[in-house]
Amino acid sequence: MAFALTEPDAGSDPASMTTTFEEKDSQCILNGKKHGIGNGTFADVMTTYARDRQTGKISAFIVEKDSPGLRTQEMKNKIGLLTVKNAEIEFQDCRIAKKNMLGLKGQGLSVAYSALIDGRLSVAAGAVGVMEDCLAESIQYSKSRLQHGSVLARKQLIQQHIAFIATCIESSRWLVYRAAIARQRLFDYVESQKQQDGWLAKLD
Ligand SMILES: Cc1cc2nc3c(=O)[nH]c(=O)nc-3n(C[C@H](O)[C@H](O)[C@H](O)COP(=O)(O)OP(=O)(O)OC[C@H]3O[C@@H](n4cnc5c(N)ncnc54)[C@H](O)[C@@H]3O)c2cc1C
Repeated sequence: MAFALTEPDAGSDPASMTTTFEEKDSQCILNGKKHGIGNGTFADVMTTYARDRQTGKISAFIVEKDSPGLRTQEMKNKIGLLTVKNAEIEFQDCRIAKKNMLGLKGQGLSVAYSALIDGRLSVAAGAVGVMEDCLAESIQYSKSRLQHGSVLARKQLIQQHIAFIATCIESSRWLVYRAAIARQRLFDYVESQKQQDGWLAKLD
């Protein structure tokens, strides 16, 4: 699967997206470009987001791989995160069934943000994991490399660098925990509101 929100000129600020949709009979017709989309070239299904040509409000959609008017291209020459293949995606009068609208019409950004909350947390947790590996490598190397009669780990400046990395990891880890607790509180609150208002029943 893929999650196609970002555009060439709408990254941190997805509310400024320019991809549009219009409804025609039982279909929605999408036009626009998405950028940097993980798994975009091989996903069977992607979620995407577009602005209603009439109302300007953003809705979410499920787009299948073989939809007419959908074009994907792998972005080459990335400088990092090489295990993720990112894609440019183009919708050129891309036709999808109206029933593929995800969630309520005009509520697309809420759908996107609900996915981003967990996505950002997992990226942050992953970054802590990468730092832990870097620290382990640094310690191992500094204990094995001999210079001026002793291993690097015996030099005070190297010890200071390693202590600094360890401190950064510890503070990052607690920021991730803090964000996870905030996420849990938000989800508990939303659940309690749903039960109070019979929100789900209304949606059905
Ligand atoms: C490996 C990778 C995988 C990705 N996968 C996906 C994916 O699957 N689906 C998807 O939709 N997108 C994906 N993206 C895109 C990602 O969501 C965007 O890169 C991100 O939203 C930032 O947008 P941008 O790159 O356009 O940067 P910009 O929005 O142009 O930001 C550039 C810099 O300016 C800073 N900045 C921006 N606005 C402000 C502000 N108001 N105040 C202060 N500083 C600001 C930012 O922090 C950043 O440092 C991926 C990106 C990468 C690198």
